[in-house]
Amino acid sequence: MRFAVGGVDMHDFAVVGAGPAGSRFARRATQRGHDVVVFEQGEVGKPLACSGHVSTDIWSFTPDGAREDLLQNEICGARFHADGPDSDAYRFYKDEVVSNVIDRVGLDRTLAAAAGEAGADVREGNTVVDLTERRDHVDVEVHSPDGLETHRARMVAGCDGPRSRVREAVGLPDPDELLHGVLGFTDEPDSQEFVDVHLTVPRFFAWRIPRGEAGVEYGLATPPGDDVTAQFESFTDGYGVDTDRRCSGLIPIGPADSVTTGRVFLIGDAAGHNKPFTGGGILYGMTAADCAAETIDPRDPATLDAYERAWRDELERDIRLGHFVRGAYSLPEAVQEAGMALFEGEIGVHMDRPTSLFSREQMRAMLSDW
Ligand SMILES: Cc1cc2nc3c(=O)[nH]c(=O)nc-3n(C[C@H](O)[C@H](O)[C@H](O)COP(=O)(O)OP(=O)(O)OC[C@H]3O[C@@H](n4cnc5c(N)ncnc54)[C@H](O)[C@@H]3O)c2cc1C
Repeated sequence: MRFAVGGVDMHDFAVVGAGPAGSRFARRATQRGHDVVVFEQGEVGKPLACSGHVSTDIWSFTPDGAREDLLQNEICGARFHADGPDSDAYRFYKDEVVSNVIDRVGLDRTLAAAAGEAGADVREGNTVVDLTERRDHVDVEVHSPDGLETHRARMVAGCDGPRSRVREAVGLPDPDELLHGVLGFTDEPDSQEFVDVHLTVPRFFAWRIPRGEAGVEYGLATPPGDDVTAQFESFTDGYGVDTDRRCSGLIPIGPADSVTTGRVFLIGDAAGHNKPFTGGGILYGMTAADCAAETIDPRDPATLDAYERAWRDELERDIRLGHFVRGAYSLPEAVQEAGMALFEGEIGVHMDRPTSLFSREQMRAMLSDW
C-alpha cells in the first residue's frame, strides 16, 4: 500500500537496479502485497556483461514460456585444460543436461516484465544518485528524464550490481575483491554439449562457451591489477580466432560481513552473492531476492536480521567452499593435471552447490570409476 507523507508518495520498497536480483525481488515483494518502485539507470539488460551460463534451476525463477524464448544451448559437462587449447582435456560430465546457455539480455527483460506484470512500477532511465536514511523512511534522490526527483520508501533494496552506489551511500563494506571479466564473440554456430575451461589465468580461468546459433563466446576474468586485455588476446590467439564484438564487467568476490543497515539492504552482486570459483551470480542473487521477499516487512526494520540469517543459511556455506575450490586454480600445473586425471569422468556435483561435492551422488559417481 502506498501512502502520501508530507505530500510525497511513500513506497514500501524502492529497488535500485533492474538486474536479475532487483526484478526478482520486485516481483516477489509485489506479489506479497507491497508497493514497489524499481529505478533502472539505463535500458533493462544493457549493456551486456555476462555469459548467461546457468544451471537448469534458472527456469524455476522465470515465468512460463521463458525457456523457449531464452535458451541458446544445452550443456552436459566441461573439458578442463591446465593450459591452452592444444593441451590435454579432462572431461567432467553428467549423462543429462546440467546447465543452459541463455540470452542474458532477454533474461533481464523477461524478469523485469514479470515484475511489472505483478504490479511493480519499473522505471528505466532513472539513476539513483544518493539516498538518506531517516527514522521512519529513506529519501531516494533520482535523476529521471524529468530532472532530479526525491522519492520516499520505507525501505530500499540495493540491487545495483558490483559497484553498488547504494552500498557506498550507506557505508556497507565492499566485496573482498572485484575481478575484471572480458567476453568476446565469434559468429559460427556451435551446439556442442561441452564448455572448455582453461586454468591459464592467475587465480581464475578462461573459457569457451558454445552458444548454439548465437555463435561462440570466449572469456576470462583476472584479479585486479592484471592486464586483462593482454591475457584475453593471448587466449583467443591460442584458439586462432579474432573476436570482433567484446564487452566487460566486474565480478564481486564475497561474502560480505553485513548487507543490511537500519532501512537499507543489498541483494545480488551488490551483496557479493556470487560463486567465487566461477563468477556466476544470477542464481545466487535471485535466491537471496526470494529470502528478502519472504523475510522483510517494510514496516519492521527488525526483520532485516531475518534476511541476513536467511540468505546466509541458503548461500554462505557454498560461497565459502567456493573459495576453497578456487584455490585449486593456483596449484602448480603438474598437481592440477594429476588431480584432473584422478577425478575426471562422470560427476554428481550441482554447479551452484560446491557442498554437493560431498553428496552421496558425487561419491557414487567417483566410486563407479574405480
Ligand atoms: C564477464 C562476466 C561473465 C559472467 N557470466 C556469468 C554466468 O555465466 N552466469 C552467471 O550466473 N553469472 C555470470 N556473471 C555474473 C552475473 O552477471 C551477475 O552475478 C549478475 O548480473 C548479478 O545480478 P544483479 O541483479 O545483482 O546485478 P546486475 O545484473 O549488475 O544489475 C544491476 C542493475 O542495476 C543498475 N544500476 C546500477 N547502478 C544504478 C543506479 N545508481 N541507479 C539505478 N540503476 C542502477 C544497472 O544498470 C543494472 O541493470 C558474469 C559476470 C561477468 C562480469
